[in-house]
Parts: sequence; structure tokens; C-alpha cells
Amino acid sequence: MGIIIYFIILMVVPMLAQMNVKSTFNKYSKVRSTSGLTGREVAEEILRNNGIYDVEVVRGEGFLSDHYDPKNKKIALSPDNYDTPSIAGTAVAAHEVGHAIQHATGYAFLNFRSALFPLAQLGSNLSYFLIIAGMFVTYAQGVGGTFGSMMLWGGIALMAFAVLFQVVTLPVEFDASKRAMKQIESLNIVNEKEYRHAKKVLNAAAMTYVAATAVAVAELVRFIMIARGSN
Ligand SMILES: [Zn+2]
Repeated sequence: MGIIIYFIILMVVPMLAQMNVKSTFNKYSKVRSTSGLTGREVAEEILRNNGIYDVEVVRGEGFLSDHYDPKNKKIALSPDNYDTPSIAGTAVAAHEVGHAIQHATGYAFLNFRSALFPLAQLGSNLSYFLIIAGMFVTYAQGVGGTFGSMMLWGGIALMAFAVLFQVVTLPVEFDASKRAMKQIESLNIVNEKEYRHAKKVLNAAAMTYVAATAVAVAELVRFIMIARGSN
């Protein structure tokens, strides 16, 4: 039973979240916004209204490739969002500006996330190697092998940083969406109905982060259980 629940978390939940974000996005990228503003124009208006003049809005590449790049102070919007006035484009553009506002105002979770990034990257590159090597050595040495167990726990510690990074991503994403909704409402970029639809788009995107984090936590817990069993 436990293993079935585990596989549901690991495979089905993220898949559903991805399917949901794609269909929600497809639906609302076809709904033209009454403001007539493209994603680029929405982003620029919100930036200006928040006194941010040093962030550039550029056309990115690929479906759902939208992101904010804090290093180069750039908001990249996927071509559809950049060029066309749609509800999805409005919501996503406002969300990315939400990240730019977090950056400009020194939002604590964003700073913490940036500080974690190098360790998290090291963790995601190296942890599996250490964990698998640790399990192998433990197996070869027999139960009670200290060296294998050390490698295993070292790998788990590294993985914990990668997981922590994903956990910290959640408040950053939810906060960016909250800021986005506040901005498009107060600047009258959307009407009441559009506000609800924009929220649907951002909620669907947030669920993909929640699902990815659930998977990462489940994976970490599983390795901790394996390591405890091998001691
Ligand atoms: Zn985001």
C-alpha cells in the first residue's frame, strides 16, 4: 500500500499538474484581454508603476519559458505572451514582474533562495552519485560498514539542500503571484471576470511547483529510510 501511494505522488501528481497548467494556459492564451495590452506592455506598465526602470522585458523562446533573470535584470516572456494581448499573457507577465519587484525590494525568501542556489545545484548534481555509491559500498562491506554509510548520509545531506531550495521556491512563487494579482487589479488592467481567470492561470502554474516539491520531499524521505535501514 505504501509503495502505491509513493508512486502516485512521484508520477501521477506532477503529471496532472503539468497537464493542468498546459490546458489552462492554452485556454486563456486564446482569450483576448479587454485592456488590449500584450504581455510586454503589461510587464512594462507594472514595472513603471513600481518605479522600476532598470529591468528589461524581452521575447524569450519556447512555450511556457517565461522567467525573471535577476542576474541580468531581464524578464523573458514566451513569444505568445510577449506579442499578444491575452489573459494568460497578462497573468504570466504580471507574475514575472512580481519577481522583479521581490528583487528590487529585497524580499527575504528570494535572497535566501539565491544564497541556497550553489549548494542546491551541487546537491542535485552530486547527491545521487554519493547515495548510489554509498549503497553499493554498504552492500559490499555488509551491514555496519561505516564508509558506505558515511557516503550515503553525505549524499542525503547534499540532497537535503536541493530539497530545501525547492521548498523555499514555494513562498517565492506564491508571493510573486499575489503581487501580480494585486497589480493587475489596482492598475485596472483586468476586469472582475478576467481577474478570476488570471488567478486560475497562476494557480495552475503554482501547483506544478507544489507537485515538484512533494516529489523531492518524498524522494528524500525514502533515501533517509534506506540509510537508516542500512546502519
Ligand atoms: Zn515565478
